[in-house]
Amino acid sequence: MIPAKFNYIKASSVEEAVDLLDKHGSDTKILSGGHSLLPAMKLRLNRPELLIDISGISDMKAISEDGDEIVIGANCTHKEILNAELITSDLNILAQAAETIGDIQVRNRGTIGGSLAHADPSSDYPAVVLACEAKIEVTGKKGDRTIDASDFFQGIFTTALEEDEIITAIRFPKVNNGNYQKFYQSASRFAVVGVAAVKNGNEVKVGVTGVADTPYRATAVEKAYNGNSDAASHATDGVEVMADHFADADYRAHLAMVYVKKALEA
Ligand SMILES: Cc1cc2nc3c(=O)[nH]c(=O)nc-3n(C[C@H](O)[C@H](O)[C@H](O)COP(=O)(O)OP(=O)(O)OC[C@H]3O[C@@H](n4cnc5c(N)ncnc54)[C@H](O)[C@@H]3O)c2cc1C
Repeated sequence: MIPAKFNYIKASSVEEAVDLLDKHGSDTKILSGGHSLLPAMKLRLNRPELLIDISGISDMKAISEDGDEIVIGANCTHKEILNAELITSDLNILAQAAETIGDIQVRNRGTIGGSLAHADPSSDYPAVVLACEAKIEVTGKKGDRTIDASDFFQGIFTTALEEDEIITAIRFPKVNNGNYQKFYQSASRFAVVGVAAVKNGNEVKVGVTGVADTPYRATAVEKAYNGNSDAASHATDGVEVMADHFADADYRAHLAMVYVKKALEA
């Protein structure tokens, strides 16, 4: 449980972090809260030669309002998110998800940017960013760009981020009719199934995590919904459901249906 030897630099600005990433290349990793990267390094699943610590970059810590949107700096911890007044009032679904993450130590250190970049198929935020149609703001040597949540997650631990890019912020629309429901892994509290539903009249947007190797929008549920939560029976239509030692595929598909229904009814 001891990581391989590595070098460490603490970046003091986004520009410095981007320059360092560009200069040192593919054996380099960004370090934020360290609650996914360090366990992976201790298991020698990841052996970066250099860690660039971005956790001290204060520009990436802000939570602000921009018209009808809320902009959350990538360095905001799960705890900061669940305690932010702006989020509990105008984006409560994200606070609901943050509150379910790990334990207090994990919530104190882990960040939203780190969680999205890591793209663990059982992590909670992806369901919410998909259902809210959030936008992920990134920067790299070639400049800034914005990635729609629907284009961001590309597979297990795989995203649309280029090697030299950093997530700087996540831009959410204000959402006051959303709900997050989760069936926990009993040891880690990761999601066996996590469902985010955002309702607008008889229309709903549903994001699902934990069920497939990539989080997804349950579009078959959305189409069938029209105000009726029985649409949850379509929760895994067209999806290859994961099986692991927490839940086989049939059980997980059943949980997905039950938790989509709970989220729609809540
Ligand atoms: C015991 C335990 C329980 C947990 N339970 C849950 C849970 O219930 N639900 C859940 O969703 N998560 C859970 N997690 C994961 C936790 O939320 C992590 O904190 C999070 O996934 C990663 O965030 P981090 O800031 O710690 O990232 P780090 O570990 O620092 O980095 C993770 C990866 O993202 C990259 N990265 C970090 N920040 C950025 C950035 N701004 N731009 C680009 N790349 C970046 C790193 O290079 C690395 O590859 C758990 C973790 C532990 C240890």
